Amino acid sequence: MTGGLVFIISGPAGSGKGTLVSEVLARDDRLMCAVSATSRPILKGETDGVNYHYITRAQFEEKIAHGEVLEYTEYCGNYYGTLKSEFERAGALGKHLILEIEVDGATQIKKKYPGAILVMVTPPNAAEQKKRLIERGRDTEESMQRRLTRAEAELDFLPSYDYRICNASGGLDRAADDFFAIVRAEELRTCRAPDFKAEYFGKTTR
Ligand code: 5GP
Repeated sequence: MTGGLVFIISGPAGSGKGTLVSEVLARDDRLMCAVSATSRPILKGETDGVNYHYITRAQFEEKIAHGEVLEYTEYCGNYYGTLKSEFERAGALGKHLILEIEVDGATQIKKKYPGAILVMVTPPNAAEQKKRLIERGRDTEESMQRRLTRAEAELDFLPSYDYRICNASGGLDRAADDFFAIVRAEELRTCRAPDFKAEYFGKTTR
């Protein structure tokens, strides 16, 4: 486990979770985002080692066999997974770690690390989600339908998430403020300072 907190951010396609993560990283250098491994091809505008570690399916399976992957899923025919080494990197840097992963992976991490904080980012409603996907223009009619259907399954996971942030159009600042409200509240939980009484009275042990 890292010394800092672990935040898992999930959300349906078109929720703007990637933009939100970029915004909060730009605002606060106590946070860092894990770079996942994937077997999907690199897309235009992406950089190896920054957006993902792009590896083959065989390499991915080798990492799983060697216990280097904390959780993984197959999404649209490609592997995606969180590398153990990213937790070690965050620990060494003393930073809070953000994982931007889908709901299955989030559930796996929460089982292994119950202290992980699950945050679901959503558009305000399905009509707005569809509008964003159309404007984004990356999908065929069929893949858009798949993403919209998947949103229903993703929202079934909401009760197992700790927080939900509504990312309304033009509301990025507000969504980032909401995220930092969560970070602050989580930092202030009494369980984060179990030795406070001893420290208060200047004792070295409880
Ligand atoms: P994309 O191909 O659009 O970059 O990512 C597809 C989906 O995979 C997104 O929902 C993204 O959050 C999820 N994803 C990215 N990295 C990981 C990971 O390491 N583990 C899991 N479980 N999902 C991931």
